Amino acid sequence: MLVEKNVSLQPYNTFGIMARADTLVRVYSSADLAALRADAKLGAAPVFILGGGSNVVLTSDVAPVVLKIEIKGRRLVQETERAWIVQVGAGEPWHDTVAWTLAQGWPGLENLALIPGTVGAAPVQNIGAYGVELQDRFDSLDAVDLLTGQSFSLDAAQCAFGYRDSIFKHAPSNPRAGDVLPRSMGLAGRAVITQVRFRLPKPWRPELAYVELARRAADEGITQPSAQQIFDWVCAIRRAKLPDPAVIGNAGSFFKNPTVTPEQCADIIARDPKIVHYPLDDGRIKLAAGWLIDACGWKGKTVGQAAVYDKQALVLVNRGRGQNSVTGGEVMTLARAIQTSVYERFGIRLEPEPVIL
Ligand SMILES: Cc1cc2nc3c(=O)[nH]c(=O)nc-3n(C[C@H](O)[C@H](O)[C@H](O)COP(=O)(O)OP(=O)(O)OC[C@H]3O[C@@H](n4cnc5c(N)ncnc54)[C@H](O)[C@@H]3O)c2cc1C
Repeated sequence: MLVEKNVSLQPYNTFGIMARADTLVRVYSSADLAALRADAKLGAAPVFILGGGSNVVLTSDVAPVVLKIEIKGRRLVQETERAWIVQVGAGEPWHDTVAWTLAQGWPGLENLALIPGTVGAAPVQNIGAYGVELQDRFDSLDAVDLLTGQSFSLDAAQCAFGYRDSIFKHAPSNPRAGDVLPRSMGLAGRAVITQVRFRLPKPWRPELAYVELARRAADEGITQPSAQQIFDWVCAIRRAKLPDPAVIGNAGSFFKNPTVTPEQCADIIARDPKIVHYPLDDGRIKLAAGWLIDACGWKGKTVGQAAVYDKQALVLVNRGRGQNSVTGGEVMTLARAIQTSVYERFGIRLEPEPVIL
């Protein structure tokens, strides 16, 4: 492990917020986590686990020790008649991993192309896009419990995946040294994911249920696209819709899409017939948070250097750069104002998607 002091976190969060870490530890292996625990000072300190910083809002300097996960490595661990099982280190970049699996001839992750961040963070919020969620391609993961030092593996059921949710997003309940790790307990901040195994099903089938992909396939007159074609389409659609964090700082979708009962939805439709909504398998209705925000007139509005992206109201962006960058306070002031106005108009409480630190 490599320990650094007084480190700028601006290069390590895609919003480009200026904040500093008192201590940043680069973690290259599980053994580094054992060394961290053994260290008299670092082992006792509170920590924050950081991947690529694409799903965090830093509202101040970070006092906990920042564990920057840089565990590398990718390999095929098993091939059966029904799947390729691929294991990837938590610190590998997500998009590069998707491209690498395709290049190896192991398709299945193409709908999730171009999502920023690391492989280790992907299970944390069960990343999803264009009709596929991580849980659809997940086999299992390895993690280290920072409290006990114990290494353990979890399968999909044990990760308790939900919509942008998993056991890794929930705070531990009364953790104590010596706890045997109960699977029902929240693991946020307590467990470092070190390896993720993907189950890429055979035979591969294109996933084109998402309307923009289906339209693209129809426009090009292609009924059986290759995985590479879907990868290219997803990249093109995303580049047209979302700001590139390397150019305009942002953390992707700032709010989760809320779900409501059919009665609540009918009530809103009576007032706003154009509301964008999708029925879910469990009978509830998913509303497009971006539509709700847009309907309240937020597109292009600003607070200091924080702005609602003018092409997609669900994305909050950094209008500044370098020393003139947005602050976490500006982002959160804008976010709260949006939440209030959506609640006043629709009676719906929007929940932020990124981790607010
Ligand atoms: C332009 C843009 C587009 C995006 N599009 C999508 C999208 O389509 N779908 C989607 O789901 N998300 C999307 N996101 C959000 C983000 O990319 C994902 O949530 C991504 O998985 C975060 O990865 P990260 O490594 O940057 O995590 P970070 O932001 O560093 O961390 C996020 C959380 O995971 C925890 N964490 C990170 N690594 C580990 C680990 N190894 N072990 C345990 N906990 C860990 C952190 O403590 C934190 O709580 C987008 C973001 C941006 C900026």
